[in-house]
Amino acid sequence: MEQSVIDRYSFLFGLIGYPLSHSFSKRYFNDKFEQEQLTDYYYELFPLQGIEELKKLVLNHANLKGLNVTIPYKKAVIPYLHAIDPEVEKIGAVNTIQIKNGKLKGFNTDVYGFEQSLLRVMQPEIHHRALILGTGGAAQAVAYVLQKNGIDYQYVSRTQSENNCLTYSELPGQLKSYQIIINTTPLGMSPNIESKPDLPYQEVGAFHLFYDLVYNPTETAFLKAGKERGATIKNGLEMLHLQAEKAWEIWNT
Ligand code: NAP
Repeated sequence: MEQSVIDRYSFLFGLIGYPLSHSFSKRYFNDKFEQEQLTDYYYELFPLQGIEELKKLVLNHANLKGLNVTIPYKKAVIPYLHAIDPEVEKIGAVNTIQIKNGKLKGFNTDVYGFEQSLLRVMQPEIHHRALILGTGGAAQAVAYVLQKNGIDYQYVSRTQSENNCLTYSELPGQLKSYQIIINTTPLGMSPNIESKPDLPYQEVGAFHLFYDLVYNPTETAFLKAGKERGATIKNGLEMLHLQAEKAWEIWNT
């Protein structure tokens, strides 16, 4: 939509990142505005070639009330904010910005989305220890939630770069000790639906909980392999909806 047209709305929201080819958020929020007859609300994509363009974006759109943040700016945006939520300080990544009187405050609603959706399927008497596959931004939000809920975890990485980090080749013989296995890698995401993390799947049993942050396709190759061995499975769709609703709540406070 043209710049002059989006400025006619009283309440403007949007997504910053680069590149922004497709977006769940734009469709989600504009559908919501239509359903709830919020005719003076609009959600737009703002691809920024550099995060330093954020200041100009906010100055140019006085009606901007909130932003979502995606790759590659979840960390890089922090120095450009006036304030951050205490959880952001611990995780080091922002996915939601509230704009009030020209002041920008950063939040991480992935934490809320992951925690709520995990707790709905987790059985504390069975699921005690977790493996986090991948060490990117989403993995840090996941680790924060696990720690908060008293669940021991280990990262699994392709490279042995971090403390408390296993490599995939070290996993055979170990899977029974970790009842929750969380995929935070992009493996299995459409269109590469055949790919999955390199695990010893023959060690998977009914006591496992497989959680995949990927939500497209709804049943990834990773989840399929877990299900075949009797594991409980959960994809990232509920997390995605919960993090969006939490952002909406923040923008309305
Ligand atoms: P990211 O920063 O790119 O990190 C992904 C991590 O996965 C990397 O740090 C890497 O860890 C590992 N990895 C990357 N490519 C790999 C490959 N080919 N094979 C094995 N491991 C690989 O991405 P992110 O922002 O953390 O997001 C990760 C995934 O979560 C994405 O698919 C994203 O769409 C999804 N996500 C979903 C939600 C939701 O609401 N459901 C929210 C946030 C993110 P190592 O280098 O240590 O191996």
